[in-house]
Amino acid sequence: MKIHEYQARELLASYGLPVDKAYICRNVDDAVRAYQELDTPLVVVKAQVHTGGRGKAGGVKLAKNEIELRQHVANILWMDIKGFIVDRVLIGKAVNIASEYYASYVIDRKSKSTILMLSREGGMDIEEVARNTPEKIHKIVIDPLIGIPDYLAREAAFKLFDDIKLVREAATIFQKLYRLFVDTDASLAEINPLVLTEEGLIKAIDAKMTFDDNALYRHPKIAALFEPTEEEKKEQNAKSKGFSYVHLGGEIGCMVNGAGLAMATMDMIKLYGGEPANFLDIGGSSNPTKVIEAMKLLLSDKNVKVVLINIFGGITRCDDVARGLLEAFSQIKTDIPIVIRLTGTNEKEGRALLEGTEFHLAETMGEAGKKAVELAN
Ligand code: GDP
Ligand code: MN
Repeated sequence: MKIHEYQARELLASYGLPVDKAYICRNVDDAVRAYQELDTPLVVVKAQVHTGGRGKAGGVKLAKNEIELRQHVANILWMDIKGFIVDRVLIGKAVNIASEYYASYVIDRKSKSTILMLSREGGMDIEEVARNTPEKIHKIVIDPLIGIPDYLAREAAFKLFDDIKLVREAATIFQKLYRLFVDTDASLAEINPLVLTEEGLIKAIDAKMTFDDNALYRHPKIAALFEPTEEEKKEQNAKSKGFSYVHLGGEIGCMVNGAGLAMATMDMIKLYGGEPANFLDIGGSSNPTKVIEAMKLLLSDKNVKVVLINIFGGITRCDDVARGLLEAFSQIKTDIPIVIRLTGTNEKEGRALLEGTEFHLAETMGEAGKKAVELAN
């Protein structure tokens, strides 16, 4: 689960990390009031959306008077940044930046641990730094039983700073951030940039946190910050209907009974060069209403060009499934081609029922995957 920068800043501040006070505003008038409260000429206006790269998209601007502030707030509010619409901006005192650094804790699959990632080349181009000069990104593996004791925190801080006073300050920051990361079951706690100001202070001027969904039940205050995207709303809705659904963004909608078969079906689509639009496990039973609900879900995704239905009949018999599909599709109007593969108990009877209909029938999974990809193209 993602949260906004201003929410992450509050968490950081509550752990004693150096973040400045800021205001959150939903319109120009609020922003002007915040500007007066801040009582400082130079302020920063920042879009609050669940995506990074706001700076490059024009969502972070400095304002040196009220006129500029009004202009920036009016421009940034309702801006579309990578499909996210800005409905809130953060207004804070602008920092005089001497240099920008990168610091984050993240779960690393390779070392199966939390790692502390650091770079002297922080800021908006961190992705390019990682791609072109990976040696400039330091990764420190954290042993969960040891955490980040003083010596390790200082060793890490020397990767960013040479001055011992700054090293000590940064070491404390890394320790506090680690506490926050562990305490909240976060999967990412990122400060980019962590800056050294012209005045010689270390400050976090951006903060990004994501949390492990499976641990949210332990953190009701964080869980309450959940703002689902349209896709996440669909996923929640599917869950309430007894499906397990994950949106993926490809063109071939999948309707499958069983999680393992659903995974294998996605692999098969990929094998033939297609992209699955989703993972969808409709579970057992041949209940037509379930098929109708599942089809509605798939067809609400405008990217879907083909639907692939892959059913294994075990206790559920294929002829029952076929009857369920016929009944369901007598109620659904769609031009989208449907590929059906039925196998298992009573498969011959099931296929016979679907013979001569508009459905594209396939006997094997390979055949079904291939056909779906051909139709999508
Ligand atoms: P992101 O692009 O979404 O990661 O947004 P950031 O909050 O990291 O801001 C992007 C960039 O804007 C930073 O790397 C800074 O260079 C600049 N920036 C942000 N806040 C300030 C500020 O208070 N003062 C100055 N001078 N620059 C800032
Ligand atoms: Mn940033």
